Amino acid sequence: MIAAGGLLNLKGPSALSHGRIPPQTLLSGADRIPLPAEGEPPPTTRFAPSPTGFLHLGHAYSALFAYEAARQNGGRFLVRLENIDPLRCRPEFERAILEDLAWLGLDWDGPVRRQSEHMEVYRAALEALMGLGVVYPCFCTRRQIRMEVEEAGRAPHGPSGEPVYPGICRSLSAEERERRIRRGEPFAWRLDVEKALSRTGPLWWYDYRAGWVEATPQIFGDVVIARKDIPTSYHLSVTVDDHLQGVTLVTRGEDLFHATHIHRLLQALLGLDTPRYYHHNLVADSRGQRMAKRNRAVTLRHLRDCGRRPDDIWRMLGLGEAGTAVPA
Ligand SMILES: [Zn+2]
Repeated sequence: MIAAGGLLNLKGPSALSHGRIPPQTLLSGADRIPLPAEGEPPPTTRFAPSPTGFLHLGHAYSALFAYEAARQNGGRFLVRLENIDPLRCRPEFERAILEDLAWLGLDWDGPVRRQSEHMEVYRAALEALMGLGVVYPCFCTRRQIRMEVEEAGRAPHGPSGEPVYPGICRSLSAEERERRIRRGEPFAWRLDVEKALSRTGPLWWYDYRAGWVEATPQIFGDVVIARKDIPTSYHLSVTVDDHLQGVTLVTRGEDLFHATHIHRLLQALLGLDTPRYYHHNLVADSRGQRMAKRNRAVTLRHLRDCGRRPDDIWRMLGLGEAGTAVPA
């Protein structure tokens, strides 16, 4: 669709085949900034990167999309740093991300939320799930899970291509769980998805490109809701934060389309608001590959050092010019 200086192509649905998501996401066509329906308040959007590297053009597209979705409709644009992983996140990347956003000309409303400062909030959400009896401790190592899956032969695979957790720890007795926890065995908390769904009943969520989507979190199996090292996970933190920050329109790459099934279930269990969603196209590089953090050539830093200006980036991404990504 849009290729700039041989640097990237903004692909339509064909970009899907390069990512890790299957084609049945119902997403197709070019991106358009969604308009709120008549009588609806202006949206609150957010850009929520993990500070595990420098921002590249793929992030810039996400950031600009969220920004435009808010600003073109008189709404609010928030920035959140998803830095729950103490091993992979680094303060120098946090600084660089905020610098790069400012360089792009984006201003955000309110303070930047740093997830690492809110662990007690996520812990409380986890405890609420424990209270509902829809999570269970999982003592498995990656290796154990892999072996179990191999033995089972044809194990189902989740949307990201990984084998679905075979539920080894789901049926442990209360005594066994107690004993292993007391023995100091490390464990994660997994969501018992079937049990949770039987509690909530059928759930739906709205995506501006896909329309109404029935939540099918069971395609992931029992996902990890709190990791062994921290009392949360990507899924839990993002769901809780979007609610607490009053985000009404979640815009993000279509690689996260399926994750929304899990987020919808968590919202129902925890009594949180359900925002609307827009899962946008992914930016592909000139070889049609999804951009990766390890590819320095497409980082905003590098482009800036090469003399590119913010206007150039906006033009490359096809946003900011009238008629490119504006509402139909
Ligand atoms: Zn387990």
